Amino acid sequence: TPDAVADLVAAHVVDVPDFPKPGVGFKDLTPLFADGPAFAQVIDAIATEYGGAFDVVAGIEARGFVLAAAVAYASGAGLVPIRKAGKLPRPTISESYALEYGEAVLEVHADAFEPGARVLLLDDVLATGGTAAAALSLVERAGGQVVGFSVLMELAFLDGRARLASREVHALLTV
Ligand code: AMP
Repeated sequence: TPDAVADLVAAHVVDVPDFPKPGVGFKDLTPLFADGPAFAQVIDAIATEYGGAFDVVAGIEARGFVLAAAVAYASGAGLVPIRKAGKLPRPTISESYALEYGEAVLEVHADAFEPGARVLLLDDVLATGGTAAAALSLVERAGGQVVGFSVLMELAFLDGRARLASREVHALLTV
């Protein structure tokens, strides 16, 4: 059940105060990845949320890759990596977005998606939504159709959902 999956995530997240800088409460989900049965349950929960109605899973570097690979395998879908600037070897589309201090750039291979491919976008944590909004725009500019954005945890007080207006957003656990 959704409650059981939420409890599972809650039981395996470690709150790290002031990481990577003062004032940030970092949600460390590596203990969830490290627990085989728990990891399998959350992957199955994500893979079934959309009833298999996606062709490709897109993971956001780096923790999104961990989820994307497992969900892709569990659902028979392909995987497209959305990477930080300068990592992809062939022509890319890129999108820059604001961070608290400065800016960051995400990229995807320009030919990563078949036109109209149904794409499930994945990351570990939804905070302000800046990363997800940039990734969403990249997928669409590259010709994919985003059917949903899923995360393990959503930090509701940062209202990231507001930046993903009208999109299907799923969080296994909302705090
Ligand atoms: P944002 O763009 O603010 O939604 O931040 C989301 C991205 O930064 C995701 O890739 C997360 O992995 C990471 N992130 C942001 N805030 C946190 C946090 N408090 N704990 C863990 N990861 C975070």
